[in-house]
Amino acid sequence: MRILLVEDDRLLGDAVQAGLRQAGFAVEWVTDGGAAEAAVGTETFAALVLDLGLPGRTGLDVLRTMRAAGNRTPVLILTARDAVEDRIRGLDAGADDYAVKPFDLGELAARLRALVRRATGRATPTITLGELVLDPAARTLTLAGAPVDLSAREFALLHALMRHAGQVLTRAQLEEHLYEWGQEVESNTVEVFIHHLRRKLGADHIRTVRGVGYLLPQQPEA
Ligand code: CA
Repeated sequence: MRILLVEDDRLLGDAVQAGLRQAGFAVEWVTDGGAAEAAVGTETFAALVLDLGLPGRTGLDVLRTMRAAGNRTPVLILTARDAVEDRIRGLDAGADDYAVKPFDLGELAARLRALVRRATGRATPTITLGELVLDPAARTLTLAGAPVDLSAREFALLHALMRHAGQVLTRAQLEEHLYEWGQEVESNTVEVFIHHLRRKLGADHIRTVRGVGYLLPQQPEA
């Protein structure tokens, strides 16, 4: 899952980025409100971690602009311990959750998973599709009850396909789930990981939509 982190404090930003990466998120990090607005205007994120006190456009400005534009990406705001008014204004402006500095990185990751889960309309933490059961928190997958060992990128790709079951995802959309900005993308990477997944799961789960992308049907075809 791709997260946009907006934080101007270098030390804190570094720590949050590292902590969330360790929890399995792909993290894009920008340090001011203008860059955050540009990013959410052109890219898709599973959630935002948004500091409110930013140079230039504040976090609150970013949040209001997003919501006014109809962007419903879940937003978790970061605020100082004594900034109760900020939290209230943030929640009223459309934030979904908040964390008070200093916060625990494990808890932040869990809150983000919960936000993404709620945003996609699921109450249970696992995604079930036919015989496949994926647990984003535990980062496990079972096939007909048997655990399947997946690499981090195979897991990220399958997670994206399962979250969007029934929809075709293009190669470019899938690459967004595998890479962060500035990372070198090999042209056939998605195909390679799809190939690995088919070898591990069986060929009937992931369908190729020629010239468009890949699709995990709501129910795998018999
Ligand atoms: Ca700040």
